[in-house]
Amino acid sequence: MSVVYERVALIGLGLIASSMAHAMKRGGIANHITGTARSALTRDVAREIGLCDEVVDSAAKAVQDADLVVLAIPIGAMEAVAKEIGPHLKPGATVTDVGSVKRAVIDAVTPHIPADVHFIPGHPLAGTEHSGPRSGFAELFDNRWCLLVPPEDTDAAALARLRSFWEALGSNVGIMDADHHDLVLAVTSHAPHLIAYTMVGVADDLSRVTDTEVVNYSAAGFRDFTRIAASDPTMWRDVFLSNKGATLEILGRFTEELFALQRAIRTGDGDHLFDYFTRTRAIRRGIVEAGQDTDEPDFGRGPVSR
Ligand code: NAP
Repeated sequence: MSVVYERVALIGLGLIASSMAHAMKRGGIANHITGTARSALTRDVAREIGLCDEVVDSAAKAVQDADLVVLAIPIGAMEAVAKEIGPHLKPGATVTDVGSVKRAVIDAVTPHIPADVHFIPGHPLAGTEHSGPRSGFAELFDNRWCLLVPPEDTDAAALARLRSFWEALGSNVGIMDADHHDLVLAVTSHAPHLIAYTMVGVADDLSRVTDTEVVNYSAAGFRDFTRIAASDPTMWRDVFLSNKGATLEILGRFTEELFALQRAIRTGDGDHLFDYFTRTRAIRRGIVEAGQDTDEPDFGRGPVSR
């Protein structure tokens, strides 16, 4: 594979940035990767494991001479970092981000990006519940979608180059409007995370009553909730605070559906439950057929308990 950007700067060295570093090396996509993170501890770990060609102590220093700058930090940190790097960006460079919410990032970052720099927000739809510089792996983006959210006046060549970059990292690339992105992600990611957090919280309350039963006898469904609910608290706090409207809209609909199912259970309306579960099973099949998940029972984790 050939080099897409000569010099890339990774701001933040957590799961997403470290996976990007591994995937860039795997594909020979950049000639030089500079990284930085907020804490000396993370920067030291990155140096120790050789994550980047160079690890520097500030975002301002990291972006100097970079052709591509990736903001891979929590959404709540975007504005301050954009303000810090703005005066140091190279004319003609591209700045992108990987934040899970797009409208809030656009509002926070755009005012600090000089006119001769391209700002093209993005969001790789790939992740795990792990964080930090040791959690990344080169395959994270393989066959997963990366959504780019270019402003209307985006330079076509800069957009094409960023698209090639994500394709070289292994992703399928889609283009989407920011508000639509935030609504879609509220359905597919943000509301499900909140529901998982809630379910695990309920079980935690119960476990105080039933001792360790919830842990010892946790069935596949509950274990999946606990995996999602183990996701980084800072990242998810920021997601909900910055995608308020869409998340509340979806949670409102969720509550209505939940009441309808509650009523079906109370009134013994088996047909309603059966039809509902048949519809949702088809959605699962669609996801597997699109190659976005495995068809292995219990995601290939071995013997199942339900
Ligand atoms: P992560 O593993 O927790 O890493 C976050 C990184 O950001 C760390 O290196 C941290 O440095 C740095 N950071 C935190 N606050 C900072 C600040 N104020 N200034 C400078 N650097 C700061 O997070 P991640 O999972 O890679 O997520 C990064 C972004 O990707 C988030 O915006 C998230 O919404 C998005 N995203 C995440 C996933 C996912 O599943 N995890 C998927 C898609 C997109 P220290 O270690 O020194 O604190």
